[in-house]
Amino acid sequence: MRHVTTVIIGAGQSGLAMSKYLTDYSIDHVLLERGEVANSWQKERWDSLRLLTPNWQSRLPAYSYEGNDPDGYMSMPEVVDYLKRYADLTGAPVQSGTLVTRVLQVDGGYEVTTDQGSWRCRTVVIASGACNIAAVPALWAELPRSIVSMTPMEYRNPGQLPDGSVLVVGASATGVQLAREIHASGRDVILSAGEHVRLPRIYRGRDIKGWMDVIGAMDVRYDEVDDLDRARRLPSLQLIGTPERETIDLNSLRKLGVEIVGRLVGLRDGEAQFSGSLANYCVLADLKMNRLLSSIDAWISANGHDNRFDAPCRYEPTNLGPQTRLSMDLNDSSVKTVIWATGYRPDYSWLDVPVFVHKGRIRHDGGVVQAPGLYVMGLPFMRRRKSSFIDGAGDDAADLAAHLNRSLYRAAA
Ligand SMILES: Cc1cc2nc3c(=O)[nH]c(=O)nc-3n(C[C@H](O)[C@H](O)[C@H](O)COP(=O)(O)OP(=O)(O)OC[C@H]3O[C@@H](n4cnc5c(N)ncnc54)[C@H](O)[C@@H]3O)c2cc1C
Repeated sequence: MRHVTTVIIGAGQSGLAMSKYLTDYSIDHVLLERGEVANSWQKERWDSLRLLTPNWQSRLPAYSYEGNDPDGYMSMPEVVDYLKRYADLTGAPVQSGTLVTRVLQVDGGYEVTTDQGSWRCRTVVIASGACNIAAVPALWAELPRSIVSMTPMEYRNPGQLPDGSVLVVGASATGVQLAREIHASGRDVILSAGEHVRLPRIYRGRDIKGWMDVIGAMDVRYDEVDDLDRARRLPSLQLIGTPERETIDLNSLRKLGVEIVGRLVGLRDGEAQFSGSLANYCVLADLKMNRLLSSIDAWISANGHDNRFDAPCRYEPTNLGPQTRLSMDLNDSSVKTVIWATGYRPDYSWLDVPVFVHKGRIRHDGGVVQAPGLYVMGLPFMRRRKSSFIDGAGDDAADLAAHLNRSLYRAAA
């Protein structure tokens, strides 16, 4: 049994940012990582993926992008290199190849069991990621056996798919990106869309993520929103990082030839049923996009920058064309693959501490878990809107490391 003050579980950006602050506080700690630094970026993403956040926005404590393409979007090997460099630079004490199998509360702290032995510690930071498992709706089990069912964590590139059309379920960042790529490979693609968040890539000459940053939209705190539960469940943004800085939304996909249908609501005897409420979701998405654009316009005017940027504009409302189809017989269609781009969830199967709300979610207050000395990082809107982004890890880690340090100090006093 080894002893340390703090065990951090996971060496992605969340764990590394926390490690940096614990080092600054001279708190001895170890990062236990089942793979290597940036394991999720290396092993769990598809081949062509680039960040949807611009390079300059991958800021971490005492570290930022210094390449010659600040407005570009990193490929996965680039993200992995970027985080590995950060781990080296900060001297993060990473124990790679160490799978945490159990965390148990014991007198005065925690016992962390791994496949490489056990640790005793006072505090634990869970930085194991919010996207460990693809969240697939129960109706996947009703798919005809002849159809290949795949999650984005299994998908690597279109070459891996059987011949035939592809139904992509879910039209948030992952779904729209996969629909675009698979369609470009020459296949027919049907995209099933429910609630979604539509955004232009560039607005008034500047990246939308840059605008969201300057107007403070990403810094909104968890204790400032009316419906936090809903804010935490909002779908990811319809954005893609391409060298051409292109906008991806239902309009652009439809123009390419992707068929858009409503949310998949039923699957019976091979018949897929799609909701008829897509038009309402589209109106809502257009409305919300325009609201954000208006906030940006207001910020530009209030700061006297109207002449510095392109003129304001509004985009064509989402146009689904004639009535989208409401059903499809999968026994008798060209669809041979269904990809469930229906979100991700964390895996806490190893956490043996009674801190759960429903569905394996941890009960926490801005990352401070309701068990002494236990913290969590990297969850959607955990302390701020940016909490689950690379750019959000630093501020959250600063707050939580300060809390952790205070609690150790108080215990010692
Ligand atoms: C498809 C996709 C695209 C994204 N694109 C962007 C983007 O463009 N920009 C952006 O800012 N964010 C993006 N995100 C969101 C977010 O930045 C990533 O999910 C990121 O990986 C989260 O970092 P993290 O450190 O919190 O968790 P992770 O990167 O998942 O790190 C957790 C680490 O914990 C390890 N681990 C898990 N369980 C155990 C265990 N039991 N024992 C030991 N180790 C364990 C994992 O191996 C992993 O290395 C994206 C997310 C996804 C899924």
